[in-house]
Amino acid sequence: PATEPLIRAESLIRTIPDYPEPGILFRDITPMLADAAALRAVIDALIEPFAGQFDVVGGIEARGFLLAGAVATVADVGLIPIRKAGKLPLPAASVAYDLEYGSAAIEVHDDITPGMRVLLVDDVLATGGTIAAAKKLVAQLGGEVVGTAVLMELTALPGRNVAGEVHALFEA
Ligand code: AMP
Repeated sequence: PATEPLIRAESLIRTIPDYPEPGILFRDITPMLADAAALRAVIDALIEPFAGQFDVVGGIEARGFLLAGAVATVADVGLIPIRKAGKLPLPAASVAYDLEYGSAAIEVHDDITPGMRVLLVDDVLATGGTIAAAKKLVAQLGGEVVGTAVLMELTALPGRNVAGEVHALFEA
């Protein structure tokens, strides 16, 4: 059962129609981030199923970063940024993936090492393409993704079919 701060957190995620493009319902987590109790509740809930099972958090650019630092600190592990191509000076691995229009790529430094157990963290699971690419990225360096934690899963999209099992706190 969801605790009162988690229910509050869900209510603080606002939906903005037609942003950044017509037809998109943008899930804006900034009011939730601004609320101390809601923020703490979601950080604890993201960690909970994976507590003690991961060595590092893989935070996905850009809004995943906002959660991943807190998750890593509370779980007492380190943080590895998974970034859009061209942002890291020494990428050790790169994975390209398709977007609705065009393609994208993500990269990571060699801080992921063989056998390292990684928890991936992002804000929203939509098509699942980003998480699927992040899993390939970790695997390229010999790391093991032990789980994926997101705030919100958009259930109208087949994200899980693409990304695999995901721990989502909220659904929309
Ligand atoms: P996807 O690869 O399609 O699962 O998209 C994942 C990324 O796009 C996530 O990092 C989200 O931050 C962002 N995203 C996709 N759809 C939305 C949405 N409706 N509202 C907010 N963020 C979204």
